[in-house]
Amino acid sequence: MNSTARIYRIASIPGDGIGREVIDAGLQVLRTVSELSNGEIAFEVTEFPWSSHYYLEHGHYVPEGGLEQLAEHDAIYFGAVGGPEVPDHVSLWGLRLAITQPFDQWANIRPVSFLPGVSSPLRKADTTELEWVVVRENSEGEYAGFGGRNLSGRGPGNEVAVQTSLHTEKGCERIIRFAFDLARTRPVTKVSSVTKSNAQQYGMVLWDEVFTRVAKDYPDVETESVLVDAMSAKFVLHPEQLSVVVASNLHADILSDLGSALAGSLGIAASANLNPDRRYPSMFEPVHGSAPDIVGQGIANPIGAVASAALMLEHLGEPAAARAVLAAIDATTGAGILPKDLGGVATTAQVTEALVSALREDQ
Ligand code: ATP
Ligand code: MG
Repeated sequence: MNSTARIYRIASIPGDGIGREVIDAGLQVLRTVSELSNGEIAFEVTEFPWSSHYYLEHGHYVPEGGLEQLAEHDAIYFGAVGGPEVPDHVSLWGLRLAITQPFDQWANIRPVSFLPGVSSPLRKADTTELEWVVVRENSEGEYAGFGGRNLSGRGPGNEVAVQTSLHTEKGCERIIRFAFDLARTRPVTKVSSVTKSNAQQYGMVLWDEVFTRVAKDYPDVETESVLVDAMSAKFVLHPEQLSVVVASNLHADILSDLGSALAGSLGIAASANLNPDRRYPSMFEPVHGSAPDIVGQGIANPIGAVASAALMLEHLGEPAAARAVLAAIDATTGAGILPKDLGGVATTAQVTEALVSALREDQ
């Protein structure tokens, strides 16, 4: 490390299941990035052991003072949370949302990237030309956590549950503006807004109105408003028409899984939970979960976690390093080194080794 090194403090939270396997792979790639930078880039990684195992032992995921510790870092590198021993909503609210909410990570960026050598279920002539980004409202909407159970009090068999969506004008506006600003940095300057405003007449109509208003500030950007059911079909039938897709928390969550499945597997999808105001650290994580069905077998696909590390490099202000990592992914899949979920036989370790070699060869 030389005295002018740019040093980044990374909080790593491998979490549950294959989280550890894929985060280890990502950290190995980051170490290589640092090594090849001639001492210009350095990472100080602190690991936090918060997981479902930790929860069962301590009764909480994030201990007291934990968020303050995280806040001292430049970015958070997250694996996955969830496992057979803890109900999904408890683990999600206990760890992932316990970070994204207080750190105001209101923009969730999920690129849909088609890789060379990976076949897509889309019957398109050339999927390598396809690439779009799902921008997910990450702070309110259907995941605001409002509602309750047993409101009727009428006893067993008659329970009523209410789950309320919260859409604020400010919340809609900031994510929609974010999507327009992102579109301006891309080859195709287009934003597709997704709602279900025919059936949901309050929040989704507010979203549509804000979208129309904000669009006036971006006359150079093409726009469309599409219902979520129609957008699901469009992902499959006309993905070449997509560039930036902006949607509510729930809709974008579903659409981004659809996008990654079209691109070949959930295992390659990357995600950034951004606090665009940069008051708090942002968090980078693969889209996939803890995958308890394949944990410990050494076959987890590390590409989603490694591509998330590329998003982290970009956010930290290291775009050249980010591009090098993405190029290493392309070189690896292009050479036919594919893990099981992409139809290959390469182990997590072999894919990681190939990514590291590709980075070195790119030097
Ligand atoms: P969670 O409750 O944490 O969301 P899950 O099993 O419900 O876990 P995922 O972990 O997203 O959901 O997994 C869905 C499916 O995709 C599983 O069959 C899993 O094995 C597979 N999968 C997910 N991620 C990967 C990966 N990185 N490599 C290989 N297969 C994966
Ligand atoms: Mg799941």
